[in-house]
Amino acid sequence: MSCDFTRTVLHGYLDGELDAARAAEFERHLENCRDCANALGAEESLRASLRRVSLYEQAPVALQPLPLPFGFPLGVGLPLPPRF
Ligand SMILES: [Zn+2]
Repeated sequence: MSCDFTRTVLHGYLDGELDAARAAEFERHLENCRDCANALGAEESLRASLRRVSLYEQAPVALQPLPLPFGFPLGVGLPLPPRF
């Protein structure tokens, strides 16, 4: 596995999308390549930072759901659930 190829599958590895053989090949490459190991560490650090930061903001009161016109299903006016 080359460094270029390792970089293309890095996100798939972190997302658990590689099959076992490909993941093992990826890990073997990291044992011998400091650059790719550093790239993985940087990506893991970035992902950890994003998990700590709340990216979901509550809508201002002016944008809170309004009473629905007669005949609308109740679910139409509800805010979407947070994505994180
Ligand atoms: Zn490498």
